[in-house]
Amino acid sequence: MDYDVIVIGGGPGGYLAAERLAHAGRKVLLAEKAYLGGTCLNVGCIPTKTLLAGAKEYVHARDSAKFGIVAENVTYDWAVMQAWKNEVVEKNRNAVAFAEKKLGVEVVTQEAKLLGPGKVEIAGVVYQAENIIIATGSVPVMPPIPGAKDNPAVIDSTGALGLPSVPKRLCVIGGGVIGVEFASLFASLGSTVEVVEMLDEIVPFMDKDMAPVLRRAMKSVKFSLGCKVEKIEGGTVCYRTKEGAEAKAEADVVLMAVGRKPAVEGWGAKEAGLDYTGKGVVVDQRLRTNLPQVWAIGDVTGKSLLAHAAYRMADVAAADILSGGKAAEAGNFMRYDSIPWAVYGMPEAAGIGLTQQEAAKRGIKTISSTLPLRVSGRFVAENGFAAPGSVKLIAEEGTKKILGIHIVGAYASEIIWGASAVLEEELTVEDLRQLVFPHPTVSEVIREAAWALEI
Ligand SMILES: Cc1cc2nc3c(=O)[nH]c(=O)nc-3n(C[C@H](O)[C@H](O)[C@H](O)COP(=O)(O)OP(=O)(O)OC[C@H]3O[C@@H](n4cnc5c(N)ncnc54)[C@H](O)[C@@H]3O)c2cc1C
Repeated sequence: MDYDVIVIGGGPGGYLAAERLAHAGRKVLLAEKAYLGGTCLNVGCIPTKTLLAGAKEYVHARDSAKFGIVAENVTYDWAVMQAWKNEVVEKNRNAVAFAEKKLGVEVVTQEAKLLGPGKVEIAGVVYQAENIIIATGSVPVMPPIPGAKDNPAVIDSTGALGLPSVPKRLCVIGGGVIGVEFASLFASLGSTVEVVEMLDEIVPFMDKDMAPVLRRAMKSVKFSLGCKVEKIEGGTVCYRTKEGAEAKAEADVVLMAVGRKPAVEGWGAKEAGLDYTGKGVVVDQRLRTNLPQVWAIGDVTGKSLLAHAAYRMADVAAADILSGGKAAEAGNFMRYDSIPWAVYGMPEAAGIGLTQQEAAKRGIKTISSTLPLRVSGRFVAENGFAAPGSVKLIAEEGTKKILGIHIVGAYASEIIWGASAVLEEELTVEDLRQLVFPHPTVSEVIREAAWALEI
């Protein structure tokens, strides 16, 4: 055997799995065909949040008069924002490389191909490994809209991150997380932004009471909901409205943000006999595939296309390998209902667990309470009375077990991890009422929402 484990793909899933296994003394090879850190670090989570951080600073400075801060002629420099983004990405990438090296993970910048259980081909050489982890990630979906292909005005999220200047007019096709974040970014920097979304609401997995709060808070963005794009001519996006009328969004740049799909092709899945569909590699709760000693983690499973889901999957797969399956028996397996999500726009939104609609679909009777964030003194002090924000708490009617916590407003992405603990530990409304939250914090609104529930 050449290695204990070969990991294919060096994104959050792959590099963390490699680290965990090397830390436990296993001999690990990590093959990454492009850049360590994968989509998240290079063209996803980190660069988007870096640019959004700059945009938030700009908006704060521009709108600071109500706090008694006078900053005149506030402006931004897109080139400097870009340079800062590139520096953040590069330094984080180096940090990942350093962590792998320190733990003794052998990293090769090569494309790898799965040949079958225990066998991986890299640069024409076949390597043997006792265990293989597939972490090849996902790729953007490019729908076959007439006029989209080879149109220089049409870009994907990677193109949007590297735009040479802030577009005057931006049309975003798709009102999911990525579309909303870019709409926030460019609208706050002065672009005229229209989001064209086929569904009736943005961010489809959000609770139906909360998504409109987020949408209405993005005042300067035009949302065209229930609209189907039919063709793109240059920068003109032609779509049909919900009522069946023809409409157009005129833009300089068209961002295609209709989603991503698991990268199941090009690395031997079919030839190796791996069980997969267009929705991802089929895995069980321990992330095992149909092939012996072959695991799949992260976006490629199609289970939850989020970096922290990939991290969790890396931990579960590594624990499964290290314990020979015993970790799962002890409760260490995937529970997708307790994976939080976050939208880092302006404002932020985050949530975990079931929405009320999802609970109803599963036949679960629920009770809920919704409170505005302005019940928090800290929130008002830092954001003003008119700032949008809301918390919604959902519990099971009978058991009073907390099923979902959803937040729209500043700090949502930082607060939500606490809600993860609530759901993981299956706390009830009464349990949550007994938790002590620091005062003054915005997170206190979660406790208030627990008291607002009639139980
Ligand atoms: C614009 C944008 C913003 C995002 N923001 C967030 C966010 O804020 N929070 C969040 O949780 N998620 C975010 N995501 C999603 C997040 O990036 C992914 O969920 C995460 O990167 C998945 O990790 P992964 O390890 O499964 O795959 P990836 O990060 O996609 O990594 C897979 C790696 O495998 C490599 N690879 C593929 N095939 C091979 C092969 N045959 N041989 C060798 N290497 C191979 C690829 O080059 C790639 O580096 C964002 C995504 C985008 C596009």
